[in-house]
Amino acid sequence: MEGAGERLAVLNQQVIACRLCPRLVAYREKVGRTKKPAFAHWDYWSRPVPGFGDPLAALLIVGLAPAAHGGNRTGRVFTGDSSARFLMSALHEAGLASQATSEHASDGLELYNTYICAAVRCVPPHDRPAPEELRNCLPYLVSELELLSNIKVVLALGRFAFRACLRALEQRAGRRLEATFAHGASHSFSPSLPTLFASYHPSPRNTNTGRLTRASLVALLLEVRKLL
Ligand code: SF4
Repeated sequence: MEGAGERLAVLNQQVIACRLCPRLVAYREKVGRTKKPAFAHWDYWSRPVPGFGDPLAALLIVGLAPAAHGGNRTGRVFTGDSSARFLMSALHEAGLASQATSEHASDGLELYNTYICAAVRCVPPHDRPAPEELRNCLPYLVSELELLSNIKVVLALGRFAFRACLRALEQRAGRRLEATFAHGASHSFSPSLPTLFASYHPSPRNTNTGRLTRASLVALLLEVRKLL
């Protein structure tokens, strides 16, 4: 019988081949053609960015979408941009990542008991996916939750991801779930569902303004770790 790792690999191949959202397909490819001057020598990934991490993880972290010159360039979610640096440094301090940096897909980074993905797997213009794009991508998150059978906690980074996680958990539960986004809040719906935690997204908009500090993210991750 196939293990979780093999089944996730099959799912990830489906994700990588996906072209369901015409606006995002056009945008991810345009970004890869125009590039950022600092990365002019890069051959951008410019495809959907699948999740990565430990297939037996107890923690699933869900971001919004790949960054134009981060995940969309490197092919790994939370890799190669300032959000990735902020998040990975906090994960490393909390004992959930092997290193404090995440710069490219073959940098040797390992996640401990943790899997990371995005609610929308293609970079959206202005970091704003349309409602139908969130809906199109939701089945991949639902499948991941099913294949990652040891998940005890889902940590949503930002409101968009929080809503997507709530919708995915509703599909697991087969009923409507009510929860409001608040940084640091947790929601336990039933013993058979993972606990849903919320954090501000580690985007420069939040980290440069002090809305999300490294200390508060590390504290939240350490709280989450107690439940794993
Ligand atoms: S956002 Fe998701 S559903 Fe839309 S094209 Fe990308 S992978 Fe497919």
